[in-house]
Amino acid sequence: MRDGNCVEGVLMHYHYGWSLCISTQVGCRMGCRFCASTLEGCVRNLTCGEMIGEVICANRDLGERGRVGHIVLMGAGEPLDNYDEVMRFLRLVSREESCGVGLRHISLSTCGLVEKMRRFAQEGLPVTLSLSLHAPNDEIRKQLMPVAQRYRMEEVLSACRYYVERTGRRVVFEYALVGGVNDSEACARELASRLRGLQCHVNLIPLNTVEERDLRGVSEARVQQFLHTLEKCHISATRRREMGDDIAGACGQLRRRVLERT
Ligand code: SF4
Repeated sequence: MRDGNCVEGVLMHYHYGWSLCISTQVGCRMGCRFCASTLEGCVRNLTCGEMIGEVICANRDLGERGRVGHIVLMGAGEPLDNYDEVMRFLRLVSREESCGVGLRHISLSTCGLVEKMRRFAQEGLPVTLSLSLHAPNDEIRKQLMPVAQRYRMEEVLSACRYYVERTGRRVVFEYALVGGVNDSEACARELASRLRGLQCHVNLIPLNTVEERDLRGVSEARVQQFLHTLEKCHISATRRREMGDDIAGACGQLRRRVLERT
């Protein structure tokens, strides 16, 4: 960035093309325990232009190999905490004369800021809402995410239902499996019962080890068992491919590496 700050974006190749995970803030003030982006808090919001810049940089890097066709707002920062600039970004990035990434190919991930989720639902943008849930109840969620002290899970799920009603799009729940915290059979069953009847999909994410935090991952057998239990309860779910562990590409880790080097 012009002021010397640095953010990370992660380009991923899928069978359907190139997807870019972008940052929306320098750092983050949400304090999720499993995330390295929040360790020094939020330095500042990114502008719409800086977020567009992340896409342009990635396209430039890709060159002949293609173009960014999908975007996930899942890098450093809580997008809804930078609401106005993120809305400008969404409206601009989708235009043909800009980056031409259709809104239906964009996902916005939030830790669950309830009022802003409801406001976002009213924007009339066909963007996929992705909710960092990571727990089947408030007690466990509070251990992982300070935002759970502010909003009860029931309020968050009710805002998700509202989003589905307004946009007709299913909500994606992100669930990072943390060994000994939220990965038990009882957790899987409780999660399934909380989500029953909601038009949604669950993404299970085996935790990327965060060296700075004392959280451990889970075995593949545990992931499969958890997945199996959700499917048995008729909850649509998949195990997300772990990406970027080898390059420290999990949220916040790339930026920290660069900062340490420089
Ligand atoms: S997971 Fe997202 S909302 Fe939570 S601290 Fe990290 S960047 Fe912020």
